[in-house]
Amino acid sequence: MTENLIIIGAGPAGLSAAIYAARGNLAPLVLTGQSLGGQIVLTNELENFPGFPEGITGLELAQLMQKQAERFGARLEADSVTRVDLQTRPFRVETQNGATYTARALIIATGASPRRLNVPGENELTGRGVSYCATCDGFFFRNKEIAVVGGGDSAMQESLFLTRFASKVHLIHRRDQLRAQPILQDRARAEPKITFVWNSVVKEIRGAGKVEGLVLENMQTRARSEIPVQGVFIYVGYIPNTELFRGQLEIDEEGYLKVDARQRTNIPGVFAAGEVHDRVFRQAIVSAGYGAMAEIEAERYLASL
Ligand SMILES: Cc1cc2nc3c(=O)[nH]c(=O)nc-3n(C[C@H](O)[C@H](O)[C@H](O)COP(=O)(O)OP(=O)(O)OC[C@H]3O[C@@H](n4cnc5c(N)ncnc54)[C@H](O)[C@@H]3O)c2cc1C
Repeated sequence: MTENLIIIGAGPAGLSAAIYAARGNLAPLVLTGQSLGGQIVLTNELENFPGFPEGITGLELAQLMQKQAERFGARLEADSVTRVDLQTRPFRVETQNGATYTARALIIATGASPRRLNVPGENELTGRGVSYCATCDGFFFRNKEIAVVGGGDSAMQESLFLTRFASKVHLIHRRDQLRAQPILQDRARAEPKITFVWNSVVKEIRGAGKVEGLVLENMQTRARSEIPVQGVFIYVGYIPNTELFRGQLEIDEEGYLKVDARQRTNIPGVFAAGEVHDRVFRQAIVSAGYGAMAEIEAERYLASL
């Protein structure tokens, strides 16, 4: 059976597209990938998503969006797409669990994944003190000294969260100014457990079987130093999940899908939404908005067939 619409990804963009499509009676199939909720489940609390004046956890928000989509008939499958064929009509989508689907229209909402530092020790010690998710792993660092790498919103927000557990947080940033929103910067600067390490990059993560320390290099003096920490949380940006579409869809030099102002890719019937194309705003509400836009366009496209 050919689907009307397959949505690839279940972050705020994919789930919001699913709510719109389900209400439009399209009975969309959502292939969620490994993470129902996407990046929002990596953060403990969202304080800026409209409608939740007291804040809401990422997990709760994802569950509410899922419930809202399913209420109107969206079907969610916990499966990852491994191959797409966008040259044929209907489009073909193959998954990790061995399923092959066909669809008249597609919305790609595969989002982005954390960028790695690519330094010695990082791969070997991931899950052994190296983490990309404070909400998931913060609890293991009760009364321990840890480091957070980065200078943006995620680095500030997650450092503040980690002070609930850690005895001390070294916030390592390659510049002497932060990119984060002023409110987050102010909170981080006022937190006695956070110490800023400016103009510094991590050269190596050291430890035998678990993280024991970081080798840092000062960007101005090139002097190296070592700090003893038992954990390191890395927030140095994100890479769009677009490898699947390389060679079929137009992708820019940084790996983001190219879309027009109506979320259309270069192939009619294939739309994209969220951080898979948006490198600028990187907020849940913005991705949710793009999801709604992509779905409205997909509905118009389907009606025109
Ligand atoms: C630590 C942290 C804190 C944050 N804090 C906030 C905040 O306070 N407020 C805010 O507004 N935003 C916050 N954000 C940003 C917000 O999480 C993102 O903007 C938003 O999640 C992007 O949504 P998205 O749907 O575009 O992509 P993502 O959330 O990246 O979702 C991508 C989806 O695609 C799926 N997927 C990937 N590959 C495949 C595949 N091959 N097959 C099927 N599915 C696939 C994934 O499983 C996932 O479901 C934070 C992000 C992080 C990392």
